[in-house]
Amino acid sequence: MAKLDLHCHSTASDGALPPAELVARAAARGSRMLALTDHDCTAGLALARQAAEQAGLDLINGVEISVSWQKRAVHIVGLDINPDCPALVAGLHSVREGRVERARRMGEALAKIGIHGAFDGALQRCGNPEMIGRTHFARFLVDSGEVKNVAAVFRKYLVKGKPGYVAHEWATLADAVSWIRQAGGIAVIAHPGRYEIGRMLMEQLVEDFKAVGGEAIEVVSASHTLDQSHKFALLAARMELLASAGSDFHAPGEGGRDVGLTANLPPICVPVWSRFSPPRATPSAD
Ligand code: AMP
Ligand code: MN
Ligand code: MN
Ligand code: MN
Repeated sequence: MAKLDLHCHSTASDGALPPAELVARAAARGSRMLALTDHDCTAGLALARQAAEQAGLDLINGVEISVSWQKRAVHIVGLDINPDCPALVAGLHSVREGRVERARRMGEALAKIGIHGAFDGALQRCGNPEMIGRTHFARFLVDSGEVKNVAAVFRKYLVKGKPGYVAHEWATLADAVSWIRQAGGIAVIAHPGRYEIGRMLMEQLVEDFKAVGGEAIEVVSASHTLDQSHKFALLAARMELLASAGSDFHAPGEGGRDVGLTANLPPICVPVWSRFSPPRATPSAD
């Protein structure tokens, strides 16, 4: 395992652990480099940095921006960003603005099928109310005994075609990548294996992403099987993208991988951290 993790969430978005606890957990598990990549929000980074200094962990400033591309939601991670960059700050603010309104509509949609109080329930579970999202609704529905776990709530209620799903317009791909670049960061296509698109559309996504200045793709992700990691390693090499690795950890016991360590990148990959400023070597297992 590589002692690094470049994708995870805190209570600043839809993670369950406050930034300092998340960092301490990653360090205790042997991580040496960690990027906190909360959705559409960098508010957790300052607390994470204090904790990282105490733990001797290399904290990379990150974010995961929600994008609409060809009528689908696509997530773009920004790594090694300056969170104070005005263009990034304003851009993320604009993405967050729509969330509360969308959540109200989700609450109304769920009420129509007899599930009441979902908006308030989701809001109570937010560390950061302006970041209210589907995960908070899912946790409310699990706690109320409606469904057994978060993944099942998504399948039953919260994905396209299900009663609690509400369409929403996120940032454009060009804007998201531009904010990340203006903030001095590297844009990364998050968990490409999660998008239900075929080979042609995936190549189109990579081409559109590169055309606006995108540079990297997640090869290793908890959302990927080993086969998918190899497939995306080959895609990265062929389309000249840097490779990233992250757990996308949200909460203990919610499925997926724990925070801190990730599988090694296939040797064909050029690691995204070799382009951080300053460049980092791979902190690998002893
Ligand atoms: P939102 O940004 O509010 O649309 O919520 C997106 C978040 O929901 C993702 O970042 C994941 O944390 C979570 N999510 C999306 N799809 C699923 C799924 N099928 N199972 C569990 N969690 C999911
Ligand atoms: Mn999430
Ligand atoms: Mn994501
Ligand atoms: Mn994520």
